[in-house]
Amino acid sequence: MNIKKAAFCYALSIIMVLFTSCQVMSSTKSIDFFAMDTVISLKISGKQADTALTQTKKEIKRLEGIFSNTIEHSDISMINQNFQADFETIHPETKEILQLSNHLSEETNGCFDITLGNFVKLWGFTEETKRVPSPIELQQAQQHVGNAHLKLADGILLEQQIQLDLGAIAKGYITDQVVNLLQQYDIDSAILSIGGNVSVIGNQQQPFQVGIANPMQPDTLIGSISVSNCAIVTSGDYQRYFEQDGIRYHHILDPKTGYPANQGLSSVTVICESAALADAYATALFVMGLDTGIQFVENHPEIEAIFVTKEGQVKCSTGIDSQFTPHSNVQVIS
Ligand code: AMP
Ligand code: MG
Repeated sequence: MNIKKAAFCYALSIIMVLFTSCQVMSSTKSIDFFAMDTVISLKISGKQADTALTQTKKEIKRLEGIFSNTIEHSDISMINQNFQADFETIHPETKEILQLSNHLSEETNGCFDITLGNFVKLWGFTEETKRVPSPIELQQAQQHVGNAHLKLADGILLEQQIQLDLGAIAKGYITDQVVNLLQQYDIDSAILSIGGNVSVIGNQQQPFQVGIANPMQPDTLIGSISVSNCAIVTSGDYQRYFEQDGIRYHHILDPKTGYPANQGLSSVTVICESAALADAYATALFVMGLDTGIQFVENHPEIEAIFVTKEGQVKCSTGIDSQFTPHSNVQVIS
């Protein structure tokens, strides 16, 4: 196929946290760096903010080195090479994230599925060169995708050729680990932004105002939500994609077909206590589409979501509706 200029686009600032002056205290320290193939921005307030930032950055890099399937000796690379591992030979965090992923895959009826590494490789989303795979390539890869091929009993057992990819949950899981770590450092408040994953923590008087990006114009917002002590994670078709022959191919794949999920949505933002869950559910809900997705959220009281359709309409789940302030020209559907 003739790829002319396949532009690979990657939206860096996905969610913005809108400060009010009282939230930025004199002891606020911040740092920006690149890890996990994304920009990480950490802002921490408290007496030990400097040490907390240094330790947080270290922890993020450590966990990236365990979970990344593009780092040679990571746990996931070793599992992908050998199709098996004893729990004793991998880090406890790997066991935990795999068990959680396995559960989430079953719960979302396979809309979230970490065994789709072969599909991700075919599209080249983790490589320099992106390309549209042929239908035959996708059909062949399909035989080596599916949560049933991953067994977690005494250790990890993958059927031959299965490849794991934690891209839809690792950032959230790592954010949760960082939130736990920060408990040691007497923190007043913190804003952790890892790609599309934001967590806000702290007991300041006013809640945080978190802006939700407009998928059609990601440097603008569709509105903002008023939240405290929670994770806000967006999966969207504007975050990573390339274009070929005028068609946009984004990175959120339907594990049942291998093609970019195309259920009428441009983004899904999930709000819940755990960033790992918010991350995985945001991806899964994007694959489900609006009707199935909103039903799923209403049956799970621990999560809330904001859906943006391809037409730019916004739908909030019942529990977040009153905390969402849309921008004036945004159409909210009830
Ligand atoms: P996210 O940005 O959290 O929605 O995650 C997307 C990333 O996770 C992609 O770059 C792939 O590496 C991987 N991925 C894509 N689609 C899925 C899916 N349906 N289930 C699990 N992982 C996925
Ligand atoms: Mg995700």
